[in-house]
Amino acid sequence: MSTRVMHLPSNRLEDRFADKKPPYDDAEAFAEANRCLYCADAPCIKACPTEIDVPTFIRKIATGNVKGAARTILSQNLLGKSCGQVCPVDVLCAGACVYNEWEREPIRIGRLQRYAVETAIAASPGLFSKKPSTGKRVAFVGAGPASIAAAGWLALEGHKAVIFEKKALPGGLNTLGIAPYKMKADASIAEIEWVLSLGDIEIRQGVEVVRDVALPNQVSARSLCDDYDAVFLGLGLGPDSRLSIEGEDGPGVEGATALIERLKSDPSLRIEGVRRAIVVGGGNTAIDIAHELALLGVHSTMVYRGTEAEMSAYDHEIASGRMDGVSVVCSRIPTKVLRDESGRVVGLRVVKAESKRAIAGTDEDLPAELVVVATGQSRLTELARSFEGVELDGRGRVVVDAATHRTGNPKVWSGGDCVNGGKEVVNAVAEARVAARSMHAFLVGGG
Ligand SMILES: Cc1cc2nc3c(=O)[nH]c(=O)nc-3n(C[C@H](O)[C@H](O)[C@H](O)COP(=O)(O)OP(=O)(O)OC[C@H]3O[C@@H](n4cnc5c(N)ncnc54)[C@H](O)[C@@H]3O)c2cc1C
Ligand code: SF4
Repeated sequence: MSTRVMHLPSNRLEDRFADKKPPYDDAEAFAEANRCLYCADAPCIKACPTEIDVPTFIRKIATGNVKGAARTILSQNLLGKSCGQVCPVDVLCAGACVYNEWEREPIRIGRLQRYAVETAIAASPGLFSKKPSTGKRVAFVGAGPASIAAAGWLALEGHKAVIFEKKALPGGLNTLGIAPYKMKADASIAEIEWVLSLGDIEIRQGVEVVRDVALPNQVSARSLCDDYDAVFLGLGLGPDSRLSIEGEDGPGVEGATALIERLKSDPSLRIEGVRRAIVVGGGNTAIDIAHELALLGVHSTMVYRGTEAEMSAYDHEIASGRMDGVSVVCSRIPTKVLRDESGRVVGLRVVKAESKRAIAGTDEDLPAELVVVATGQSRLTELARSFEGVELDGRGRVVVDAATHRTGNPKVWSGGDCVNGGKEVVNAVAEARVAARSMHAFLVGGG
């Protein structure tokens, strides 16, 4: 059940995607680094949730010290390689770059970050040295970016980390959710293998943490609290929400994250019979799957109940999806999935909407062979509550002390999507860092 080598099957649909931002070579990185103005009080640092010292790492690239650049990045963000590829830089560091004020292209910070970390690790993976063993053991629930980052930092401090992951592959949504034109699953896995090399970290894949154990591949929340010196909850979010409309149950209707996961990891997924797909939702997950389907040659339409201005998807993602053929239909509410006599999906019935409310008598039938539901993910409230003393807020998020990320149980910390309700990888890493510091202080007797 535990493994250190994680193979992905070949012939997945994700293999068909090209990288939209291919890695820089040395000359490109050097040229881009030399455009940076190394601003004092740099706004790009403040815009980064992990507060990476951007001008310092870029200057190190410009002076040929790529290893030093990687150390500057990774000491703030252990998943700095992933974040260089997947961060929405347009609304974070690059969006804050002073070049924007002069309507000039901002520094491509994400691509430089990826270049520095990939180049340095390829040349010499041993960028950090682990402290002597403390004999303390920490359990992690979930192997997403929050747990992986926290485990890496705690392992460097000499603690043993044991990560319990219910899925066959580690990495959470960073492995199984990121759009393949940004980063493929094997890149996330390779980064995790590097984190594992930092210290004593074990991942037990295919092991689910539950309240009451009923199966051999389960462990109880209580046993983790009893058997380990501290516990970190990096649960993420739950399954895709449903539309709860007629015709929804059956083949041809898929939850967005479930479909993306198969696209990235399941070689049996094929979409040859799908010419048109409708994606219901207006967020980043909706635009991601609509964009992915469009790049696979499917005519892909997003259907959203509000106006375009009300869509929560980033403008740059919508614009990029449109460039690749995604259509957007706003102010429509789905009422029925249409199926033929044999049960095959043939379309989606919608009504027009005003202020997100249905207008009676305005039915329209939109043809499609596939309907994807991207209207949000549920919360894993039952699992979180199975840890004694852990509290949830009214939106099902794990409540933590903001300064320490400790929960109501003094032995349990938490971070990532289950705490923030669903943000970005960089937020999960930033929260993991706060938790890891507090956990380390506790483990060595000061917390
Ligand atoms: C479709 C999609 C695209 C995204 N694209 C981007 C992007 O481009 N850039 C970006 O920065 N962010 C993106 N995000 C968000 C980002 O992936 C998440 O914010 C991040 O992965 C959260 O990390 P996490 O560790 O909190 O949770 P997760 O990544 O969800 O990991 C949680 C892990 O816990 C495991 N788990 C849950 N319950 C149990 C249990 N009972 N026992 C054992 N294991 C359990 C899960 O299987 C999972 O592996 C995207 C999200 C989605 C849905
Ligand atoms: S704001 Fe732009 S130019 Fe200034 S340090 Fe940051 S990346 Fe360089």
